[in-house]
Amino acid sequence: MIFGFGKGGRDDDDDDGDAEDEEDDLDFILFKGALNENNPDLAENSRLVQAGLLPAKKVISEALARRADTVRIEPKGKVAAITYLVDGIPYPAAKMPPKAANAIIQMLKLLAGLDITNKTSKQSGGIHAEFDEVKHEVRVDSTPVKGGGERLLVRVQNLKQKLETPKDLGFSEELQTKISEIGASKSGLMLAAGPPMSGLTTLSIAMVRGIDAYLITIASIADLQGRDLPHVQEFESNAEDDLETTIRRTKRSDVQVLFVDPLLDADDAKRILEVTEDQCFIAEIPAKDAADGIIRLVSLVGDANLVAQALRIVVSQKLVRLLCRDCRHAYRPNPKLLAKVGLPSDTKKLYRAPRPDEDEDDDEDLCENCGGTGYQGRIGLIEVVEMSDDIKKLVLSGADASAIRAKAREAKMQSFQSDGIRLVGEGKTSLEELQRAFRT
Ligand SMILES: [Zn+2]
Repeated sequence: MIFGFGKGGRDDDDDDGDAEDEEDDLDFILFKGALNENNPDLAENSRLVQAGLLPAKKVISEALARRADTVRIEPKGKVAAITYLVDGIPYPAAKMPPKAANAIIQMLKLLAGLDITNKTSKQSGGIHAEFDEVKHEVRVDSTPVKGGGERLLVRVQNLKQKLETPKDLGFSEELQTKISEIGASKSGLMLAAGPPMSGLTTLSIAMVRGIDAYLITIASIADLQGRDLPHVQEFESNAEDDLETTIRRTKRSDVQVLFVDPLLDADDAKRILEVTEDQCFIAEIPAKDAADGIIRLVSLVGDANLVAQALRIVVSQKLVRLLCRDCRHAYRPNPKLLAKVGLPSDTKKLYRAPRPDEDEDDDEDLCENCGGTGYQGRIGLIEVVEMSDDIKKLVLSGADASAIRAKAREAKMQSFQSDGIRLVGEGKTSLEELQRAFRT
């Protein structure tokens, strides 16, 4: 089985032995200190450094070279497995003795300023890093597993990478206009709703970037996780100030749109909703989708009236993979299929990923662009629920998420389904990929 890692993807042999020729091709990541500034004494841990530093560098550098942004290292019975996530899809990368994996895990924990003597509690930290002369940030989360040992989740972010604009993320013109209008009104709340780790922060940042920063003063009191937002002032809140005081201070500095931390606390959420009359807020809320986001906000603050008054729009996204431009296959869809999925009956051509058995080239010659996965990069399916009069009425009547969803559909607001089918029609993704995304 080929896992489509491009060149060298078939190399499952993890014995680094004397494979120096191979390593010459690979740029190694440089670790440059813990994010929490709890920098470890490497000399004091020389045995661990000797066992774990080079392998840790190798695993992460290889992952980056294969376009992965997430690495999972976990014990699985008598071996430990390393998994790379490329565009959100897991690929087994290597297996190794638990001892070797543990050296990598402890090394990364040490570099991230975590406590390596503690293997029984969850810990999170991060490392400043450089790869290919570009600054990166490596986030490290360790979780103890049943039966001993730990699982490590490593997420690497390229800090220089172009930040996602609304357009990159797939916002329609219409949605962009709406966001920019709400921003310009300097009032109301805009919500980004979605499951945690689903690119929710990227979505909310795209909403922030959808506001015209030349006309409107935008600031953030949210944790931007190391991201630098052009034209968005990072507003320092004083440790002794509560949220209300901080918001008041931003207002005195003429901040018209304020990006705040995710709405998790009832009092904080209430405070924000109460002051949306002359300042616009953008926030995240953990939820299944946009309609669910509204219901969760209502139950969080316990006041449907307040929500109906303040909330303007909820946007949610689901990430799907983009077909590789170099190796996607065109096919002529039959009319039944078109009718079933709701595409125009005159659609002549759709695209899908190549199937392994139909590839003329042999396995040695995988597509260079995507490494043989058939997909490269991701885009968001965007769902929007606007707080129209009809939706407000539903919210006030205590309706549930499915009633809101149905009403939004009736009003032809953009849904995951409709946006996905549009992308299929444009040849950007495949029906198979939509099915996969809706299943998960
Ligand atoms: Zn390709």
